[in-house]
Parts: sequence; structure tokens; C-alpha cells
Amino acid sequence: MNGFYKFMKDRYGADGLSWGLLGLSVILIAIVWLLDIWFLCLLPIIPAAFAIFRTFSRNIPARRRERAFFAGMGDNLALTKNKFRDRKTHIYFKCARCGTVLRIPRNIGVKKVTCPRCKSVSEKDTGSAAN
Ligand SMILES: [Zn+2]
Repeated sequence: MNGFYKFMKDRYGADGLSWGLLGLSVILIAIVWLLDIWFLCLLPIIPAAFAIFRTFSRNIPARRRERAFFAGMGDNLALTKNKFRDRKTHIYFKCARCGTVLRIPRNIGVKKVTCPRCKSVSEKDTGSAAN
């Protein structure tokens, strides 16, 4: 165990992205197996090899940049999902000063909005208050 600890000491190790890549590999194996497309049988190796490469990599800043990039993609995906879920009840828009995404209810007339991050105040037309 001490030898393995020494081996891994300067290496990046496993993170959520590596586990996600391994999960993608398992899904690809299942797809190749279920759909009987054996000419693609080497495809699941690509994400698995990348996950193993990342885990044992010594270039920690590069691995952190990759993780941050994919975490940003996940945030965008969650925001898109929430925008779709709230499309009939809320308006999403960016703060003109700092770019923070803000959410306010629809159809309450012109509303003064204070950004929780930069405290700038702006007015937003949310649609008719009569509805
Ligand atoms: Zn702001």
C-alpha cells in the first residue's frame, strides 16, 4: 500500500470527470453489445483510456482545466434544463453589469430587479400584469 501511495503521490488521481468517462465507456460497451455492432467494439476503449491517462497524469493544471471545462458544460446544461422547466412561469436574463443569470416571475408588469451579486438595480418588463 505504501508503494502505491508513493506511485500516486505526484499524480492527479481520479475525479468526477474520470469516473464519468469510465461510465461512458460502460454505456458504449452496452450499446455495442446490445445492438451487435462489433466493428465498433474498440470505441469504448477511447474514453476509458482517457480516464486512465488522466488518473495517472502528472500535469495537474491541465487536468484541472479539463475538469473546469466539463463542469462549465454541466452548469450550462442545468441552466438550459431549468429555463425549459420554468418557461411558462419565469423569465431568465443576464445582469447588464456582471453577467449573472437572474430569474424573475413572468407577467407581473415592469419590475425593479436587484442583482444579488453586484447589487445593481435594473428594470425589466415581465409582460402584462393583468394575466
Ligand atoms: Zn450583477
